[in-house]
Amino acid sequence: MSCLFCKIAEGSIPSTAVYQDELCYAFADIHPQAPVHILIIPREHFTSLEDTNAQDRDLLGHLLNTAALIARDKSLGKGYRVVINTGEDGGQTVDHLHLHLLGGRHLSWPPG
Ligand code: AMP
Ligand code: ZN
Repeated sequence: MSCLFCKIAEGSIPSTAVYQDELCYAFADIHPQAPVHILIIPREHFTSLEDTNAQDRDLLGHLLNTAALIARDKSLGKGYRVVINTGEDGGQTVDHLHLHLLGGRHLSWPPG
């Protein structure tokens, strides 16, 4: 498996862990776009959100619950954003499903 985020989840490429359980792994983004910028990934490889279906709803819900859990732990009470870039037009650059958790500053809208 040549996937960067699969290797990060299994620990063969180093990362700064934030949270982990049997289903997912969360770690600091290497190029943070906000004071808090954490990536949450499923341990199972999905190329993108497009690669999921109704069978994956529990896992997808778990990823969102985990984002909210981490946001609370990071004291992001003023707010935060969860983003899933998907495909070329969505700006996805790593082909393993991941949630961005961004916070710690005001985030403008709409995104570029
Ligand atoms: P996306 O553009 O939505 O596919 O997001 C990919 C994210 O992965 C970017 O924010 C990158 O900064 C981040 N990234 C790429 N390589 C690493 C790495 N080795 N460790 C942590 N984050 C990474
Ligand atoms: Zn992968």
